[in-house]
Amino acid sequence: MALIKCENISIAYEGQTVVHDLSFQVGEDDYLCIVGENGSGKSTLVKSLLGLKAPAKGKIILGDGLSQNEIGYLPQQTDVQKDFPASVYEVVLSGRLNSRGLRPFYTAADKNNARENMDLLGIRELEKQCFRDLSGGQKQRVLLARALCATRKLLLLDEPVTGLDPIVTQEFYQLLRQINRDSEIAVVMVSHDIESTMEYASHILHLQETALFFGTAEEYRNSEIGKAFLGGEQRV
Ligand code: ADP
Repeated sequence: MALIKCENISIAYEGQTVVHDLSFQVGEDDYLCIVGENGSGKSTLVKSLLGLKAPAKGKIILGDGLSQNEIGYLPQQTDVQKDFPASVYEVVLSGRLNSRGLRPFYTAADKNNARENMDLLGIRELEKQCFRDLSGGQKQRVLLARALCATRKLLLLDEPVTGLDPIVTQEFYQLLRQINRDSEIAVVMVSHDIESTMEYASHILHLQETALFFGTAEEYRNSEIGKAFLGGEQRV
């Protein structure tokens, strides 16, 4: 059964529909990239997947034991996050907040999980450093470790490499692929970086209010819409 199944969803702001009749699904080990022009509804869809904005029509069905508060979310970077006055360890550990429920403290299991994820992402030696003093690439690793603390099944990332230099960007993508393969965590990523998207994604959702295309990356490469979009991007 799919982790996420969207069935004919429409999403609206004050009666104005911005996503219309959209259907797609995300399987257990998938790496889905959501592409599309600015204003095509990508961030709005992310909000609905997180349960922050209910669709006006249609259904989002979560399967395989996934619940909305078990999605590991890495948001678009904002200046507020960049200046977060907390240690790396505290930022990573805060990924456990959702699963903590009403408990007023973190358990030993929460703390172990934070350390495991810092080890996995090679940031353990930074644990006592202040988040705001890190480089852009280190910050993204910390936020990825935080997102991993919130999930065992699905990472949702919104434009995660904005502002990173090309080498750090490639390292970040390699890490994600490793997590996707080795830890069997599905990845759903909004991306502007179409070249890397085509290298790493297993599936593509091309959004333009509705799904212009949904299928495997291979099918997208061979589709008319994919050829037009990829060709256009490569000319830039
Ligand atoms: P993308 O992430 O693909 O750039 P968005 O999901 O941000 O697209 O926006 C899709 C459409 O919804 C745009 O027309 C945008 O103006 C509109 N929109 C986004 N957020 C809001 C909001 N909070 N209130 C009203 N309209 C919004």
